[in-house]
Amino acid sequence: MTHQFITQAALTDTWLKTPGQWRLVAMGQGANVEHCVRLSCPDCGEVADLQEHTVNQAGCVDPSVVCPNKECNFHKYIFLKGWTGCLN
Ligand SMILES: [Zn+2]
Repeated sequence: MTHQFITQAALTDTWLKTPGQWRLVAMGQGANVEHCVRLSCPDCGEVADLQEHTVNQAGCVDPSVVCPNKECNFHKYIFLKGWTGCLN
């Protein structure tokens, strides 16, 4: 299985229209806000939130990422380019 680099989207790019991008999104409200990584599939552009995954200091996501689009075969380990090491 190969690794794929995912590009960090501009902060203003809320909807990730470009395939193969990621950004942080806030989930929940008030004191319960948690941040998670949202990314667009490099192959089909489907947007998914990584709530069951962890990201290490280098930006490597574990476990591997499977595209939620059933008509897409994307299933790879990914690196988040521009990852700063924390969910903020
Ligand atoms: Zn896909």
